[in-house]
Amino acid sequence: MRVSVFSTKPYDREFLSAANPADGHDLEFLEPRLTPQTAQLAGGATAVCAFVNDDLGTDVLQRLDALGVRLIALRSAGFNHVDVAAARRLGLTVVRVPEYSPYAVAEHTVGLMLALNRKIYRAYNRVREHNFALTGLLGFDLHGRTVGIVGTGKIGLCVARILSGFGCRVIASDPYPDDAAVATGVEYVPLQRLLTDSDVITLHCPLTPDTQHLINPERITQMRAGVMLINTSRGALVDTRAVIDGLKSGRIGYLGLDVYEEETDLFFEDLSDRVLGDDDFSRLNTFPNVLITGHQAFFTEEAMRNIAATTVASLTAIEQDGPDAVPHPARVC
Ligand code: NAD
Repeated sequence: MRVSVFSTKPYDREFLSAANPADGHDLEFLEPRLTPQTAQLAGGATAVCAFVNDDLGTDVLQRLDALGVRLIALRSAGFNHVDVAAARRLGLTVVRVPEYSPYAVAEHTVGLMLALNRKIYRAYNRVREHNFALTGLLGFDLHGRTVGIVGTGKIGLCVARILSGFGCRVIASDPYPDDAAVATGVEYVPLQRLLTDSDVITLHCPLTPDTQHLINPERITQMRAGVMLINTSRGALVDTRAVIDGLKSGRIGYLGLDVYEEETDLFFEDLSDRVLGDDDFSRLNTFPNVLITGHQAFFTEEAMRNIAATTVASLTAIEQDGPDAVPHPARVC
């Protein structure tokens, strides 16, 4: 199958090429992000392979359909960036990688918690300048603290297991409680109680119309003073302006982000020579108690290998046996 791979970075080329057998698919690696302007690059391809910040809205899907593209293969679990109704209307098949390494994201999540709590990023800079003073580096024991997990799917469950090992009390909110989480010692509570009871809140639910700005001004006022908020799920779960106000008032004592509401024009690129026009992002970076990584939680060798293997397997299965060869949950539509 001829496949246009958008938003290609060197690591995508490396892992996809390794997963693609010698007589396998004709992968055309394209560096540009998929947008209405770049969609035409998929001319002649049967499939498009896309990542999280590629635009798969109605306009782009219509353009791809007109070019003869029949299949969208997402190199991600989340599919909030796809207009699924439009894809269905056009008869396009959309597949994703529902699970590639929940451990990768969960471990990065806990890494953010530890780095923020023990101020490891500040200590690193101090020691390099031979400043060995400890003032300002005081942390707290995670042992015995209450951590609230919003969404106990594959990643949330891994986070729960890791934090149970730390001796945390883990509470969670999810419309579909999971027996495996309960067996780990997780106590399910309504979201409101999670907000009021947690020392650390970490988000692991998908971005949907219902969860957009789940963290809003009202919910922030319900949180404990000095709470740690972590978001490694999707940026728009959090109202950025509300979080900035929460940091200014001290209600939010620590903020760890791997995703950002307006990350599309920032993340995955080296913009170190540019002046950023995003004032909210710049403001976030002025706080000493904010730690941001650029959507790298998934980025481990194991995860990259699994993403590439699942993507190539889906392309092969659909080429040989049609869209039904890839069942739900990997098949979105
Ligand atoms: P999953 O589908 O296994 O779990 C999601 C859970 O959220 C489910 O249990 C679901 O019932 C729950 N949920 C849905 N709506 C909710 C709500 N309103 N409140 C509470 N819970 C709710 O997904 P997963 O594999 O655990 O991934 C979670 C999210 O992590 C993905 O949607 C994706 O956006 C994000 N993610 C980020 C990265 C990264 O690199 N930063 C990588 C992979 C996934």
